[in-house]
Amino acid sequence: MGRLDGRVVLVTGAARGQGEQEARLFAAEGARVVLADVLDEAGRAVAEELGGKSARYVHLDVGDEAGWPAAVAVAKDAFGRLDGLVNNAGILRFNALEHTPLAEYEEVVRVNQTGTFLGMRAVAPELAAAGGGTIVNTCSYTALAGMASLTSYAASKAAVLGMTRVAALELAGRGIRVNAMCPGGIDTPMINPAPLDPGAGRAAVDELFRAHVPLGRAGRPEEVARLALFLTSDDSSYVTGQPFVVDGGWLAGLSLF
Ligand code: NAD
Repeated sequence: MGRLDGRVVLVTGAARGQGEQEARLFAAEGARVVLADVLDEAGRAVAEELGGKSARYVHLDVGDEAGWPAAVAVAKDAFGRLDGLVNNAGILRFNALEHTPLAEYEEVVRVNQTGTFLGMRAVAPELAAAGGGTIVNTCSYTALAGMASLTSYAASKAAVLGMTRVAALELAGRGIRVNAMCPGGIDTPMINPAPLDPGAGRAAVDELFRAHVPLGRAGRPEEVARLALFLTSDDSSYVTGQPFVVDGGWLAGLSLF
């Protein structure tokens, strides 16, 4: 028996990285999964690999309000219901505060923050109609601690954590739990260009994590997926409105000696 038998879960940004691993793990645990992304070729390939009984792919730009009803409809048409959402899609832009163009700030907010808002708003009635469900929002350690050159990203992720708490309060009465994951550095194309451009910066990235993370390495996307599984399954049935850090100890503090 899988931990998600009978569940139907929509995962955004599921074409690669953490979202892909969440979709794969959820399907392995018995869920039927709708993978949403803007990377259509990659997203479709993952869904096809998982098979038609377990997965569908839908093109969804999470910041586009009009796209959400169509994505929800794919879940209902294919699998009859929707009772879980992982708001995973996100983008990262590095820039010093003084050099951040407004357009870049707004682009990050549109995907990370507005996308999460639109997702929660679109699925809440469906989750309620299914008798309850779960929403997992992907924040970041930058929702809890600062990091230079990440004004727009940190702002968007702190906003997601704020929304998570409010949504948890508003939706608890309808059996919907809402939690947030705060990953540290996770080895995906977002922070590590190597998988996309072999040889580019891999050693530098490894050294950064060896030096600064107590567990001495970046996290693996599967390790975040397992937290998403916990928060989506009944294993977390008494948990809502909380941030969960998965960072190899990065936020625990300094280790000077
Ligand atoms: P990634 O870049 O590998 O994957 C992000 C996915 O989101 C991609 O498939 C991308 O196409 C998709 N996406 C981007 N914009 C989209 C949009 N407008 N609509 C739909 N899909 C869109 O990165 P990842 O590390 O897997 O990131 C997943 C989540 O984890 C993000 O929210 C990210 O901010 C967060 N996060 C990542 C790290 C890290 O170190 N990698 C750390 C903390 C938080």
